[in-house]
Amino acid sequence: MKGICILGSTGSIGVSTLDVVARHPDRYRVVALTANNNLDRLYEQCQQFRPSYVVLRSEGQAEELRRRLCAAGLPDTEVLSGTKSLEEVAMLPEVDGVMAAIVGAAGLLPTLAAARAGKTVFLANKEALVMSGQLFMAEVAKSGAKLLPIDSEHNAIFQCMPADYCAGQTASGVRRILLTASGGPFLRKPLDELDDVTPDQAVAHPNWVMGRKISVDSATMMNKGLEVIEACLLFNMLPERIQVVIHRQSVIHSLVDYVDGTVLAQMGSPDMRIPIAHALAWPERFESGAEPLDLFSVRQLDFEAPDEARFPCLSLAYQAVRAAGTMPAILNAANEVAVSSFLDRKIRFTDIPETIKHCMATIVPGPANTIDAVLDADRIARSTAESYINRLAVY
Ligand code: NAD
Ligand code: MG
Repeated sequence: MKGICILGSTGSIGVSTLDVVARHPDRYRVVALTANNNLDRLYEQCQQFRPSYVVLRSEGQAEELRRRLCAAGLPDTEVLSGTKSLEEVAMLPEVDGVMAAIVGAAGLLPTLAAARAGKTVFLANKEALVMSGQLFMAEVAKSGAKLLPIDSEHNAIFQCMPADYCAGQTASGVRRILLTASGGPFLRKPLDELDDVTPDQAVAHPNWVMGRKISVDSATMMNKGLEVIEACLLFNMLPERIQVVIHRQSVIHSLVDYVDGTVLAQMGSPDMRIPIAHALAWPERFESGAEPLDLFSVRQLDFEAPDEARFPCLSLAYQAVRAAGTMPAILNAANEVAVSSFLDRKIRFTDIPETIKHCMATIVPGPANTIDAVLDADRIARSTAESYINRLAVY
C-alpha cells in the first residue's frame, strides 16, 4: 500500500487522480489533500477518502472545515493552512508519491519539497518545472526521487522511450520528439477576430476539459510552448529537436522519432485518467476508467504545422528556452499575470502575447542557479506585467 499526497486535489487533475485512486483502494492510501479555497469539494473528498491531513490556503477556511468535519464525526483529519503546510505534507514520511497538480508558480515550492524529500513525483504542474528548470532536475537527481510525467504529451513520450528510461537522462537513439497539439478553440478563427474573443470562448477546449488557466494557454498555444520547455528538461533534449505538430483529434498524444526511422506513438482517448493511471501504476498497468479507444469512430488522423502568426506564444517559449537562465521563469510569470487579467476581462486575448513580449524584452535574465534567483525573476516579471497591463486601454 502506497501513501499519496495530492497537491491541488480539488482541480481538474486532482479530481481525476482521486477517481483513479478510488478504483484501486488496495494500492493507494490518501495521506494528504490540498486546495486553494474550494472548501466544499475538499470537505466531500475528506468524507470519501479520510485523509490524515488536508491543507487550505487561509486559516479562516481551515477553521470552518475543522468545524464541519467535527460535526460530521470525522475528527481524525488534521486541517492545516498556509503555503508552508503544503511543503510539509509533501515531505511526510508516510507519503510515497506526490501528485503535483497545483496550477502555476504557487506549486513550485511544494513540488520542489517533494523532489528534495526523494518522493515519487507525479508532475502535472508544468509551470513549476519551467520556472526552476535544471535546478529542479538536479534536486531530483540528488535525492533519487522518481519523476513521472502526467502531462499527456510527456507521459506519451515517456511511454515511447526505452523500457529502462528515467526522466532527465539522454535516451540513446532518439532523433526527435514530435509534440502533438490540438490547436485549441481558435485554430480556424479569422485572425482579425481574435481581438474580440471572450474568456468563455477561450476556455471552451474542443477535446479536453481542464482548469481555466491551462485552457486559455491551449487557446494561445502557450501551453505547447511551456510543454516544449518541459520536454527539453524531462528528456534532456535541445529545443531544435522538439517539433510541435498540430493534430486536431487529440488521439496521438506525442511521438518519438528514432535514428533508424522508427517512430513510436502513444494513443488513447483524450482522458487524463490514462496518463495518471500509467504513472500511478508504473512500471505495472492498471485500469484507469477511461473508455477504450474506438478507431472506427476516430476514422481519421490529421497533422499540420503551427502558424507562427496565429500563435506568437509558441515562438516566445522557444526564445525563452534558448535564452535560458531565468528567462523561462520570466515568460511563465508574465503569462500567468496576462492570462488572469484576460480572464478578469482587463485585457484582450491578443494582449497576452504582447504582455509576455514586453516582459521578455525589458527584463534582463540572470542565471537560474538558486531558487531565490528564480523567485526574484518571477516577482519582477509579475510587477512588470502588471504595470504594462495597467497602461493598456481597458476594453
Ligand atoms: P485547476 O485550476 O483545475 O486546479 C488547480 C488546483 O490547484 C486546485 O486544486 C486549486 O485549489 C489549487 N490551487 C490553485 N492556486 C493555488 C494556490 N495559490 N495555492 C495552493 N493551491 C492552489 O487546474 P488543472 O487543470 O487541474 O491543472 C493543474 C496543473 O496540471 C497545471 O499546472 C496544468 O498545466 C497541469 N495540467 C493539467 C491538465 C488538465 O487536463 N487539466 C493536463 C496537463 C497538465
Ligand atoms: Mg499537455
